[in-house]
Amino acid sequence: MTLDATTIQSAALVLIAAATAGAAATAAHRFNRSRSCRPWTPWLRHRCGQPPAADAHPYDRLLRGVRIFQQHTAPLIRPELARLAKEGQAPSQLFITCADSRMVTSMITNSGPGDLFTVRNVGNLVEDDSVGAAVEYAVEVLKVRSITVCGHSGCGAMKALLAGDHQPAGEPTPLGRWLRNGQASLTRMHRRPAQFGTRQADELEKLCLSNVAQQLESLAAHPAVRSRMAEGGLRLMGMYFDLATAQAYLLDQATGTFRPVCEDEREKSEAAA
Ligand SMILES: [Zn+2]
Repeated sequence: MTLDATTIQSAALVLIAAATAGAAATAAHRFNRSRSCRPWTPWLRHRCGQPPAADAHPYDRLLRGVRIFQQHTAPLIRPELARLAKEGQAPSQLFITCADSRMVTSMITNSGPGDLFTVRNVGNLVEDDSVGAAVEYAVEVLKVRSITVCGHSGCGAMKALLAGDHQPAGEPTPLGRWLRNGQASLTRMHRRPAQFGTRQADELEKLCLSNVAQQLESLAAHPAVRSRMAEGGLRLMGMYFDLATAQAYLLDQATGTFRPVCEDEREKSEAAA
């Protein structure tokens, strides 16, 4: 079973707000009675609630998740979504990341509805008109103030690039043609690979990190981005998410290395202990 991170988290926030207003006692009782999960627990090995039958089609699992949303989350998040529907979206950030199912953007950025204008594709590549159109819209219409490119560990697109799948012997498939957009990242990785600031990166990690740096460079050449950056109204950020350790890294553009987020805070708490 999967529940959308945004709706679960926002449901919790809405619940808290309603409790403050004194109107949530009934809703909270209903919520707690019908659902003992706290945010994220439905994702812990997907063990929350009644598991679907072993022979259930994946679509049944999806539909079951939608039903659970309608029953439990929608009543809580509806006021906030109604506000957004009325006022329209005004996100301050464009977030570009991979289509990988393990990357849950709202979870790793602690964001909710209306926060992130998001583009996802295989390998978080920006060398494409569809991404260029989204960037143009985000920068010129939505007036976002930052663009983040986020790569991740174990990226299948980067593995395929390393394996040369973008240069097949025969006629390339759509995936092969798409992966050609990553050639510049592969070249960059061989010539001047991006690194972690705190540990050694293996070959795949070097490509994942270099790909983020390369996509930022490409973004900076986009006319709309270049113009807004010249005015000082737009910032580009590079991020990498290590799935196994649930650790985000940010590109330090001064040193060109990726450093773990909260590293300073962790060092301070360890020093104080
Ligand atoms: Zn990926």
